[in-house]
Amino acid sequence: MPHPPRNRFRGQAVVIGAGIGGLTAARVLADHFEQVVLVESGMLPAVAGPREGVPQARHVHGMLARGARQLEALFPGLQAELIAAGAPLFDHGLLASTTVFAGRVPRVRGGVQAHGFSRDLLEWSLRQRVVSRPRVTVRDRSRVTGLRWSREARRVVGVRLAGGEVLDAELVVDASGRFSKLPHWLVEAGFPRPAVKVVDAGLAYATMLFDAPGQGFEALQHMNSAPDRPRGAFVVHIEGGRWAVTVFGAGGDHPPTDEQGWWAFAKTLGNDDLDALLASATPVKGTGIHGFKRTENRRNEYAAIRRWPRRLVAIGDSVAAFDPVFGQGMTVSILQAHALGETLARSGDLDTVARRTQRRVAAIVRTPWLMSVSEDLVWHHHRERGTLPLWLRPVLWYKRRLIRLVVADPEVFRMFLSVYHMVEPPTALVGPRVLAKALFKARRRWPVTPVTGNEGTR
Ligand SMILES: Cc1cc2nc3c(=O)[nH]c(=O)nc-3n(C[C@H](O)[C@H](O)[C@H](O)COP(=O)(O)OP(=O)(O)OC[C@H]3O[C@@H](n4cnc5c(N)ncnc54)[C@H](O)[C@@H]3O)c2cc1C
Repeated sequence: MPHPPRNRFRGQAVVIGAGIGGLTAARVLADHFEQVVLVESGMLPAVAGPREGVPQARHVHGMLARGARQLEALFPGLQAELIAAGAPLFDHGLLASTTVFAGRVPRVRGGVQAHGFSRDLLEWSLRQRVVSRPRVTVRDRSRVTGLRWSREARRVVGVRLAGGEVLDAELVVDASGRFSKLPHWLVEAGFPRPAVKVVDAGLAYATMLFDAPGQGFEALQHMNSAPDRPRGAFVVHIEGGRWAVTVFGAGGDHPPTDEQGWWAFAKTLGNDDLDALLASATPVKGTGIHGFKRTENRRNEYAAIRRWPRRLVAIGDSVAAFDPVFGQGMTVSILQAHALGETLARSGDLDTVARRTQRRVAAIVRTPWLMSVSEDLVWHHHRERGTLPLWLRPVLWYKRRLIRLVVADPEVFRMFLSVYHMVEPPTALVGPRVLAKALFKARRRWPVTPVTGNEGTR
């Protein structure tokens, strides 16, 4: 349920960036402030479609069930609206074709729903709802170039826009994404440069949009696996009866962005369902092939800055951007915006909100970060020819056994899906039943072979 509006703070809050994080933050802030200004550097189109500022939106964007639930609580009726716009809602276990290194996962009811839509449609639907709130103003084509500080530079009092305009703010939320300038703005104001953690799997995406008839599945996941299977694919049936098809490669094995190369790359996966879809598919005219390479896990350690500025909160990719293969980014930013709302609802003093929210933001990042980097550290170390950290070895060993079980045991598959969708915590996968199965049922050793071009995928 959305948290009740308890405090009405005077003045305005400013949100930097109208992506998923910024839109949910603006929605939450509208419960607490007289005015909310959402500032976006790109142009926001009046219809659902591609826009500047979010090149990643061209690629398959899956929403985890936890994120979808939280979004529905903040925007009641959103799911029905997306369905009415033609976005298929389906049981992930039953209607997704899933292939992992251990084989094809049998399709059984998973009890977790997935929703097929383009990121453009989702963002547009959220935007319509946010803009229609009386307390929210959206300013697109307005780039924030810096923060304004109180005289002793401990408190943020507004933002500066390109062209020299200044917006006063009682609270500023940075949701400007993976390429946020916040570290630089902090240093400019005399704060220490925040420590940053980067784990790069050397992953790239390349996506095409197709028209194709129904396939007997609504989504497809062909997972890669470090370090011997660099290639994979994601497919989702989206609004308008279209199919978004992303192929990807880690460890530097990147998919080409010319048509011939793209099709050849997709073929190397040897995935019958993907091949059947592509055999009956026609590329949507004028959409082309879009590549994306900046996919490293990147985390700014804002919560570790001892004297974090008052009235400043950072959420979403600006704090932690993830390898997109795990589909966590949107959900994490929605949970963080929700946490901001809860902190505001509980606090009567705006000066304490920023620090408390930033700690919660860091706590929300912790588990998804571990899930993402535990796989990607293998690519990272493989590329750098380093040795894996000791703590990671048992984690990977256990994970490989679990994945073997996922193919063989529907009960484990269902649990795995719930953890993947952040509905259950990862500890659910080390409960006594799953643990016993992993230790005594899934016996085969995980084969470790080096990444050599495309060989691992054939
Ligand atoms: C290839 C790829 C695939 C992905 N797939 C998934 C997926 O399947 N599932 C999932 O959950 N997540 C996925 N993600 C992650 C997801 O896109 C983000 O985590 C999510 O959108 C939250 O981002 P955000 O709102 O913090 O930033 P963004 O969505 O990047 O939005 C930032 C906004 O800030 C604006 N901006 C930037 N600088 C300024 C400035 N100075 N002034 C004003 N405005 C500014 C930008 O124009 C942009 O609109 C994927 C990411 C990539 C790269």
